[in-house]
Amino acid sequence: MTQTTPDDLRSVIAGERLDRADKPLISTNPARTGEVLAEVSLAGRAEFTAACRAAKEAQRAWAAVPAPIRGQVIGNIGDLVAANKEALARAVTRDIGKTLGEARGEVQEIIDTCEFFRGEGRRLYGQTVPSEMPDKQLFAFRNPLGAAAIITAGNFPVAVPSWYIVPALLTGNTVVWKPAEYAASCSWAFYELFSRAGLPKGVLNLVYADGEETFAGLEQALGEGLVDKVGFTGSSAVGTRIGELCGRHLQTPCLELGGKNPMVVTEDADLDLAVEGALFSGFGTAGQRCTSLGTAIVHESVHQAFLERFAAATAAAPVGDPTRDVLYGPMISERFADRYEGYLDWISGHHRVLGSTATGRITADAPREGFVGDPADGLFYHPVILAGVRPEDRVFTEETFGPIVGVASYRHLEEAIELADLPGYGLSCSIYTTDPKKAFAFRSGIGAGMVSVNNSTSGAEAHLPFGGNGRSGNGGRLSGLWVLDQFTRWQSMNWDY
Ligand code: NAD
Repeated sequence: MTQTTPDDLRSVIAGERLDRADKPLISTNPARTGEVLAEVSLAGRAEFTAACRAAKEAQRAWAAVPAPIRGQVIGNIGDLVAANKEALARAVTRDIGKTLGEARGEVQEIIDTCEFFRGEGRRLYGQTVPSEMPDKQLFAFRNPLGAAAIITAGNFPVAVPSWYIVPALLTGNTVVWKPAEYAASCSWAFYELFSRAGLPKGVLNLVYADGEETFAGLEQALGEGLVDKVGFTGSSAVGTRIGELCGRHLQTPCLELGGKNPMVVTEDADLDLAVEGALFSGFGTAGQRCTSLGTAIVHESVHQAFLERFAAATAAAPVGDPTRDVLYGPMISERFADRYEGYLDWISGHHRVLGSTATGRITADAPREGFVGDPADGLFYHPVILAGVRPEDRVFTEETFGPIVGVASYRHLEEAIELADLPGYGLSCSIYTTDPKKAFAFRSGIGAGMVSVNNSTSGAEAHLPFGGNGRSGNGGRLSGLWVLDQFTRWQSMNWDY
């Protein structure tokens, strides 16, 4: 293993790097846990509040920059990310173990987002509105909100932050970004590219901090009127607390939370296509996507055939070193691996396991045939298919965030839709069918924010609304023009002449 000096990562407020902490957090590569990537100095609540103050102070001047010029800066960011695409993708893979192919796709998502909003700088339209009165004209303007605190999870450590930060900056807001502390290295690479694009000091601030310090800092900043918008991507439990906190200040945060995403396979579906989708969305990123497949709900007439094909495809899928050609690599970090092991308790003794010889960590004692690399190097887990999961099982209703997929069966489409909605999340879902009537009935019957037909539950495009309902979020949408409503508010003006 090549030994390099770990990066010394620290928060940056108004362009100033904070001091190094006495006991920095040690960040390692989850595919090679012996490789130390960075020593991360975590800031405290006071620093988080100070970052919000810096963002607030910088906001008026940034909002006064004409929108087309802000659009140009966003364009510069996109160009810089494109020129450094491979390096940033490799940083993502090293940091959180996502396969290089997926990491490249994630970086492309930033480039696409910048491409979209570069042009939006010239189209940040207001409206003229007819008046009931003569000699009177009505207008509506989109105004920025102020300073935004953006707190993000580490499973999409660079694409998801860009979905918030790019439109927030474009519309004249300033930002405090709190990335996931377990994805610190690639967050730094992302921040560096953004800060090289010509952003004035204080417009984008980076704070490394743990959850509780962040919460306390945010509470104080909201109390002092230093934060005008909170964007949060993470678990439903933390999102609920953030929502309550913001509510006390009469603010509506943008909450993008967990998922338990169903896939329905009808009797007329192309089963090979459905298996391909189940494999990609069930096990890709080791099941650690908000849009990962939770349960496949399969028509009883094709249930057995689906199970057999899915099990065979899973058994044959390459797992291992994420820099090689594999379906998935390791868990993101020890914390994610430990949490997932806790969920595995739910299934012991209750379910028939398919697609694998074991349910837990891949080790010398519990090997996986065809493993790519040495499993002892990292946090690798067996893919697990659970046959016969029932609505009353915890694994049917709770997000597990690991390589585990349940399979259930149904008789009528209405029953499938009911089962699909049962967990109470509402992020993504999919249906595999060759019958357009079933596809449309599913779309209109389901509560999820995103529906796929003959495609997996995972996937996003930079100009289509992204977001969930129920336990998956409060209905805010990222991406495309829809996100403008998260970072602007309408101001009306009437002019009597
Ligand atoms: P998490 O909620 O524990 O942490 C997410 C972020 O919030 C991290 O930066 C963390 O440091 C911070 N945080 C934690 N506690 C906090 C608190 N009390 N106050 C303020 N900030 C706090 O989530 P996680 O386990 O790191 O990430 C996985 C979760 O994120 C899953 O539930 C996944 O589905 C969800 N997620 C959702 C989306 C989406 O778009 N809907 C995308 C990615 C991940």
